[in-house]
Amino acid sequence: MNLLEECKGAGSIGIGGHVRPDGDCIGSCMGLYLYLKKELPQADIQVFLEKPADIYGCISRIGDVDSTCDEQKKFDVFFALDTSADRIGVAGTCFKMAGKRINIDHHISNENGCGDVNFVDPSASSTSELVYRLIGSEGLDRDIAEALYMGIVHDTGCFQYSCTSPSTLRAAADLISYGFDFSRLIEETFYEKNYLQAQILGRALLESIRFMDGRCVVSALSRKTLDFYGAGPQDLEGIVSQLRSIKGVECAIFLYETGVQEYKVSLRSSEKVNVAAIASYFGGGGHIRAAGCTMMGTAYDVINNLSLHIERQLDGRDEKE
Ligand code: 5GP
Ligand code: MN
Repeated sequence: MNLLEECKGAGSIGIGGHVRPDGDCIGSCMGLYLYLKKELPQADIQVFLEKPADIYGCISRIGDVDSTCDEQKKFDVFFALDTSADRIGVAGTCFKMAGKRINIDHHISNENGCGDVNFVDPSASSTSELVYRLIGSEGLDRDIAEALYMGIVHDTGCFQYSCTSPSTLRAAADLISYGFDFSRLIEETFYEKNYLQAQILGRALLESIRFMDGRCVVSALSRKTLDFYGAGPQDLEGIVSQLRSIKGVECAIFLYETGVQEYKVSLRSSEKVNVAAIASYFGGGGHIRAAGCTMMGTAYDVINNLSLHIERQLDGRDEKE
């Protein structure tokens, strides 16, 4: 796919990512937004996302992000990034109504894509890496490079996860040659936690429970606990990966209450469990080693239902793909 060819003659272009946007979602949307703004100065270009967390304030033109969308507006071209059609945050209707829908994604649960034009590669580390591939080295500038680098860093866990490939590192090498302060970017957007976030992480770790001989660990936070700390979803990032990094853990589950008998579930796997398959079974999706879904019932129901599937996979009684 050639980005500029696809946008040829388009007067209005929209870009949107998934609900609860994470680093890759924001990085890829902003990287593409900055690129199209640079290349197509005459076009009306808008980027739609739920309000990005304050940590992303360092990304160029993050203030341009629209968190509401005029659902009547018919865009000539609309890009859905890092998402399938059912999870587009604030611009789902605009995507559906657009003259041409373009989907760029790396989720295995969205393998076939949801656009008229699709660029989906589940083997890619991140949607930001895919946007890098599409823009090409000659189309970059410092600000675009910084946004895309951030996305790659977040989805690879700072180049640790198995989704990191030689092409990911080649992209990263090219991106840092643009001279932004990558150490600060990683510290401020990936590692740094405010005091509240550190406390809630501590609470989640303290209350975690291991089962299946320590091969699984789970932690659940109730609405009451979240309210006590005044914590929102953006304060809970990173908890599930901390649980996953406990020695001996094959699969980590983190859940928090989002409504009456409703939980947002995050799953992470070390090597053996295909959590995308489990999350998809419960109506969610994601990647083989990192996936999520929303489930109904009490925390105990949710954990029981999930552990059944995890146990089946660990015992080799279930399909892993
Ligand atoms: P997280 O656990 O950090 O929310 O998400 C892990 C991965 O799974 C991310 O790539 C995210 O986009 C995906 N994911 C999380 N929740 C859902 C969901 O409800 N549906 C789908 N399709 N993907 C999800
Ligand atoms: Mn992603």
